[in-house]
Amino acid sequence: MRNQILVIDEGTTSTRAIVFAPDGSCRHSAQQELRQSYPEPGRVEHDAAEIWTKTLAVAREVVEQAGGAEAIAAIGITNQRETIVFWSRRTGEPLAPAIVWQDRRTAAICRTLKEQDNEPVVQAKTGLLLDPYFSGSKIGWAMEHWPQLREAGDDLAIGTIDSWLIWKLTGGLHVTDATNASRTALMAIGSGHWDDGLIELFGAPRKALPEIVDCAGQFGETRLFGAPIPICGIAGDQQAATIGQSCLKIGETKATFGTGAFVLTQAGPTPPTSRHRLLSTIAWQLGGRRSYALEGSVFVAGSLIKWLRDTLGLIGTAHETEALARSVDDNGGTYLVPALSGLGAPWWEPDARGSISGLSFSTSKAHIVRAALESMAHQAHDLKAAFAADGVDWNCVRIDGGMVANDWMAQDMADMLGIDVERPKFAETTALGAAMLAGVGSGLYAGLAEASVMRGAVETFAPNLGDAQRDKRLAGWQRAVASVVTLAQ
Ligand code: ADP
Repeated sequence: MRNQILVIDEGTTSTRAIVFAPDGSCRHSAQQELRQSYPEPGRVEHDAAEIWTKTLAVAREVVEQAGGAEAIAAIGITNQRETIVFWSRRTGEPLAPAIVWQDRRTAAICRTLKEQDNEPVVQAKTGLLLDPYFSGSKIGWAMEHWPQLREAGDDLAIGTIDSWLIWKLTGGLHVTDATNASRTALMAIGSGHWDDGLIELFGAPRKALPEIVDCAGQFGETRLFGAPIPICGIAGDQQAATIGQSCLKIGETKATFGTGAFVLTQAGPTPPTSRHRLLSTIAWQLGGRRSYALEGSVFVAGSLIKWLRDTLGLIGTAHETEALARSVDDNGGTYLVPALSGLGAPWWEPDARGSISGLSFSTSKAHIVRAALESMAHQAHDLKAAFAADGVDWNCVRIDGGMVANDWMAQDMADMLGIDVERPKFAETTALGAAMLAGVGSGLYAGLAEASVMRGAVETFAPNLGDAQRDKRLAGWQRAVASVVTLAQ
């Protein structure tokens, strides 16, 4: 029967394909790792051709396992946001490297725009801040430094990863959904359209940009798997996780700990205005109507564990961090501030660099690893304070992402935040959110509330730490992060 949903979940470190049954159970999945290159300090690039080849390979694998294209009702796409791809409309091949969301090469451009007092208007229109994180300054930089893009003229297409994959899947449809568009800094989030003033400010070529569409609907079809399959759901990964965690009512909050960490709180139909350096973003757009979220973005989460493993060689696997953290009574006074690619919310210091402090001869590898894991809860704590100051306090957080396989970290999060932390048994909430959207777009479900049946059981971590211990740890963290911020200024 044609009722399964194929989700393409294109992340920063890997690309995945998952086939879901209509009840949300995962039938088949396949994954391939992606290469990232670091051509200079602060620069992070992807090869868009590799992303496409590997995405197509994993999708083909699971479609075959599911019994062929005839078994698939719809495709949902979710992707790393802000990463920007440049390609030729004629050949469908990339014209330059993809600039990844973590890339900081436009820090100076953003600083200049800020000094020229552009931030208030950018924030009012986009809900974002002037930071290299967002695609707008990356596009402007690429147009200035990569002559082949200027020379391409009308042949140039620019888009986030969703657009790139949809172009390749459909053979030339150029669209992006409202959630991905809301991260470019080129869209006025209240209107749902590209904004000419922003396009000019960042130096983006208007004609190269895709059309902005809803998150659910019928967005063309692909014939690459045999019988045609319609593309029915699209959302940026954090918005998809917000949907997959069923954060549909105002105040409901999810925190994803993948390569970076991203907290989104559902804010309803009016764009929220942050006074504490959080972002206002589109949670979804359905039937032309938008729902918004308040977001705290932290650039370094799982990538810190990867760095401990691959660069420092301190651990053999990410999984080991849990036993190491448990092997010591406390952090021994060690604090790690993971500003390896600047600091995101609520500090927004692109030039900040990380630190490990409080070292003594009794500091062991376990203390450093524990300090690394603790830094996740510390950052979440600071975000909670910023959200509360913006009038949205959390009473529970729904966590997901690769890092939350770590039970110690999930408990530490509950202890530091002082609230329940809920972890779904099925951790692939990002893919699930895209499946829910595709379910709505293909008519399997009437709306997101109905599609929420796809979300399964959860387990709860309750806070279990005395105030004195908590306050002591947080005081140490505040000192450590303050010195990192001061050094960057
Ligand atoms: P993304 O979707 O951003 O590519 P994932 O959600 O797959 O990332 O998360 C992968 C990250 O989670 C990796 O950076 C890895 O270091 C980290 N990770 C995986 N397992 C653990 C664990 N048990 N403890 C801590 N971190 C982990």
